[in-house]
Amino acid sequence: MAYKNETKQCQSCKKDFTIESEDFNFYEKIKVPPPTWCPECRLIRRLSFQNTWNIFWRNCDKCGEKTLSRFLPSQKFTIFCQRCWWGDNWDGTEYATTYDPSRPFLEQVKELIKKTPYVAVNNSYSSNKNCNYVNGIAWSKDCYLTFWADYCDSVYYSSLLNNLRYSLDCIRGYYSELCYESIGFSRCYRMFFSDECDDCLDVWFSRNCYNCTNCIGCVNLSGASNCIFNKKYTKEEYEKKVQELNLKSWKNLRSLEEKAYKFWNTMPYREYHGHTLNHNVTGDYIYESRNSKESYILNGAEDCKWCQFVTVKPVKDSYDYSGWGNNANQIYESITVGENADSVYFSNECWPDVLNLQYCSYNIAGKNNFGCVNLKRKEYCILNKQYAKEEYEKLKEKIIKDMKVNPYVDKLGRKYFYGEFFPIEFSEFAYNQSNAMRFFPKTKKEILSEGYSWNDLEKTKEKSTIKSSSLLDTIEETPESVLKEAIECSMCSRAYNIAKGELNLLKQIGLPIPHECPKCRENKRFARLDPIKLYKRNCDKCKKEITTPYAPSDSKIVYCEHCYQQEVY
Ligand SMILES: [Zn+2]
Ligand SMILES: [Zn+2]
Ligand SMILES: [Zn+2]
Ligand SMILES: [Zn+2]
Repeated sequence: MAYKNETKQCQSCKKDFTIESEDFNFYEKIKVPPPTWCPECRLIRRLSFQNTWNIFWRNCDKCGEKTLSRFLPSQKFTIFCQRCWWGDNWDGTEYATTYDPSRPFLEQVKELIKKTPYVAVNNSYSSNKNCNYVNGIAWSKDCYLTFWADYCDSVYYSSLLNNLRYSLDCIRGYYSELCYESIGFSRCYRMFFSDECDDCLDVWFSRNCYNCTNCIGCVNLSGASNCIFNKKYTKEEYEKKVQELNLKSWKNLRSLEEKAYKFWNTMPYREYHGHTLNHNVTGDYIYESRNSKESYILNGAEDCKWCQFVTVKPVKDSYDYSGWGNNANQIYESITVGENADSVYFSNECWPDVLNLQYCSYNIAGKNNFGCVNLKRKEYCILNKQYAKEEYEKLKEKIIKDMKVNPYVDKLGRKYFYGEFFPIEFSEFAYNQSNAMRFFPKTKKEILSEGYSWNDLEKTKEKSTIKSSSLLDTIEETPESVLKEAIECSMCSRAYNIAKGELNLLKQIGLPIPHECPKCRENKRFARLDPIKLYKRNCDKCKKEITTPYAPSDSKIVYCEHCYQQEVY
């Protein structure tokens, strides 16, 4: 059926947004009413339910052992360590309640959110090996302080990964090995301090290079070798230059980095990142996708809109879906759902092998559940209570009907009828503790006025034993005793340690000890990503209108895909 575009006012930010006819088709197909929040407010609301990067120490509320945790010790939730949470002696039905039709349904879900036990860090516990200091990872081994990753091996301080091996300090690394301080790369070997390069070998301080070997400080090259700042050298000349540059020295690396960033800015940017086998897409960091709009970090998608952080393909027919893919179909208004997931709406943390879930949070291998929280391997449950199939279907229909007339109303008066994601005040995390802060930073005042909450995250300071400025210039000179030091970060002055595996990997690659703590390095790396925002502007060459993450006021030179191709290939 053909619908007309409709303009609505967002319940949250009060700005107008458009629901297009293609959107109405999607909502009709999955039998949900159109949203009442604009796409950006919906995304921020979802992100506020996730905390991937802020971890603390806390004790398990079951066995008492010290565990890494996404929750502050002061947060009044029941927190189990991974071993206790994944243990077979409970499944969540212990917390079952009976639906009370006289009260809003979501109010009753909120009670389950408050009383069920949460897992301290959120990993696919049984699929990982020797990964004790990680959050949000699956099918990986020997990783350390790594977040949001699948199929990784020996990776340190990195995020948003799929099939990365023996690497440190990376974001969005896929199918690559021996990489350091790089973001956005696929099928690379020895990629250092670089942005958005694919199929490269031994490349340093470069951006948007493809199929290149032995390059330093290059931009927009394809199939090049032995180039420095886009200037071609013979193999012998290049090797001599590399000797002179001495890429083992911390001081030399810093000055080269500064020079490279200046050079990068003089060269055109492609209208958006991601080009490989795309057809009819808009967004940023989009790969191997078709008919997908306004998305951010998307791999192998088809017929998707407003989807983010799909690091593992494929995903099909999904709207407002934030992570992480790995065979996901018809997901709507959900976050961290994946690994064989089908028809999951208004849900948070449901994986793997999940089917027909609505208003569920932390459902492991759940099928046909409605409004269940911290529930494992169950079918036909409502508010964690087990029903027979027919009873379940009947009660579910009744609750949906009730939700359409008796909404949950939050403290700012926003109404949550059937068809909205969870109210923001249901999140287990304060805004500044959640992933929303990472991608949409706000002040404490803004956070509170929008109805989100705030937690003070300040951690106790460990005393440092040396200053980072006293670290030796190369890894060869660095003694093994550095492992015993608490190094003072040159940026935030907090103390940090070097892990044994990290030191070994740096030795193998030949790079010096970093002078900043992992958190400061992580923040700097995330600042290299484009924000989740799209603008209309004109190609700086042919003047054609393009949809791009670069605001018209951004001084970068931005080319449309066509003009960019002519420049690079
Ligand atoms: Zn809004
Ligand atoms: Zn425990
Ligand atoms: Zn720091
Ligand atoms: Zn153009």
